[in-house]
Amino acid sequence: MSVDFDEIRGVLKQHLRTEEMFGLGFVPWPVTNRTAGTSAAQKAEQLRQLDEQQVKGCRKCQLCETRTQTVFGQGNPDARLVFVGEAPGHEEDRQGLAFVGRAGQLLTRMIAAMGLTREEVFICNVLKCRPPENRDPAADEILACSPYLRRQLSVIQPEVIVALGSPAAKTLLNTAQSIGKLRGQFHDYFLSGLTGEGPSIPLMPTYHPAYLLRNPEEKRKTWEDLQMVMAFLGMPLPQGTT
Ligand code: URA
Ligand code: SF4
Repeated sequence: MSVDFDEIRGVLKQHLRTEEMFGLGFVPWPVTNRTAGTSAAQKAEQLRQLDEQQVKGCRKCQLCETRTQTVFGQGNPDARLVFVGEAPGHEEDRQGLAFVGRAGQLLTRMIAAMGLTREEVFICNVLKCRPPENRDPAADEILACSPYLRRQLSVIQPEVIVALGSPAAKTLLNTAQSIGKLRGQFHDYFLSGLTGEGPSIPLMPTYHPAYLLRNPEEKRKTWEDLQMVMAFLGMPLPQGTT
């Protein structure tokens, strides 16, 4: 992983401070309490507007030159659980949908193992456009695109976020720690984008399904992480699991 997350953290902080100071950009998006309640229909409309008015035509980074189309993410706008991946791949870029390729099929099975369907959760990525040849996201691309993700999460206000893989976990938690260190416990995702400031949502980092396809022996750990998420949400654990 060539991304310098310390650098991203520093620059992000500056961006957020500037936005805050001038009352511009993404920070002033209302961070409401989930129980205070924006309706599912209102959330759907807010997400639709974000996609139509900002993401679809976005040219904030170089990936706009090579994408077929943007991939906003999809699912339940009022989801209790949101999965965040890295970036669209070939199939996602072709269909305009998140996680519909091989890794997506494994994610579907992981969601099913939890007793859920893809329609019940929300699935999206840090980057909304495909990096050419599926290369790692660059620091400036993450910086340019992550306000959209922050806004998606502020609208949906899920009870739990699952970060799939290193770029998602590091971006959302503003950390340089490895996914192997981060996984297995809940962390706080701060909706403000600034660690320690304002309301937060529990976030479970785990391995990316594409990594699990290459390293199936790690699936057990991911399943443990997902079971912690299920317990947190008060979902029944499958028979025979400890
Ligand atoms: N990998 C990701 O991180 N996201 C997708 O949407 C597909 C593959
Ligand atoms: Fe815009 Fe994000 Fe696409 Fe870059 S990756 S062009 S910031 S939507």
